[in-house]
Amino acid sequence: MATLKVAVQKSGRLSEDSLKLFRECGIKFNNGVKKLKAQSHNFPIEFLFLRDDDIPGYVEDGIADIGIVGQNVHDEYQKNVEVVKHLGFSKCRLSLAVPREEDYQDISYFEGKNIATSYPNILKDYLKSKGVSAEVHEISGSVEIAPGIGLAEGICDIVSSGSTLLSNGLKEVETVMKSEAVMVASKSLTEDQQKLVNQLIFRINSVLEGKNNKYVLLNAPNESLDKIIELLPGMRSPTVLPLADKGWSSIHSVINEDTFWENIEQLREAGAEGILVVPIEKMIR
Ligand code: ATP
Ligand code: ZN
Repeated sequence: MATLKVAVQKSGRLSEDSLKLFRECGIKFNNGVKKLKAQSHNFPIEFLFLRDDDIPGYVEDGIADIGIVGQNVHDEYQKNVEVVKHLGFSKCRLSLAVPREEDYQDISYFEGKNIATSYPNILKDYLKSKGVSAEVHEISGSVEIAPGIGLAEGICDIVSSGSTLLSNGLKEVETVMKSEAVMVASKSLTEDQQKLVNQLIFRINSVLEGKNNKYVLLNAPNESLDKIIELLPGMRSPTVLPLADKGWSSIHSVINEDTFWENIEQLREAGAEGILVVPIEKMIR
């Protein structure tokens, strides 16, 4: 029987959300602290806990069959693996930053300058695409202190809120790439393993879709029904049930998180009241 070896970051910003996603997919396992491996007892998966930087290489070499890493790490290491799913967590961006007091106009600022980064390949490709030649200085950590100690004139690093930049006297000037966690897979999976990956992606999709949608229940006078049904397309069409109170109905449907508030406003204007909004755990179209 086939198993899937799944590489997950051992401890860091991806770890918790990665494991949570597998649990939400109904995959049960125990991961004790400091353990290097864990086995699921209800899905043929074995987890390997690794440094995120090693994951693309291990997946390429077949030590792991799939893995979860930031898109930034995948792009930097340029290993021969396939991105099979964007996962929507660990969102961040890779940006260029310079000392706050610098007069920065555009990317040509970096011409002939020295930039410190842990992402030399991504940065070099970016600079090349912009026609800028700069000196790329690779350092492995604490990139944000490089300008302060005279090591570089600018940096290229991961940003989420920007507070680390600010506290180091830097300002963000260009976004080099946007990133989120992705699932990568080996290009030499067996047919049975590919089936398991497909099953897993099916479950992930239903979890992610559930998060993107809400279940709505509301009451409305029957004369507003047509208008409300038009506003609530749902999965196929809404459920309409009569209320004990004559002339009123209860309507149940699904609405998308992105247009949620806009939708609620329109529903109220159309006569809806007593609106309940409930999270959806999983959604299969
Ligand atoms: P390791 O010890 O495994 O090498 P690391 O220190 O390189 O870990 P983390 O800081 O845990 O890595 O970040 C892992 C990934 O999480 C990054 O590659 C990036 O995709 C994402 N990430 C980094 N910083 C943030 C942030 N502030 N907000 C959201 N996501 C982030
Ligand atoms: Zn790392």
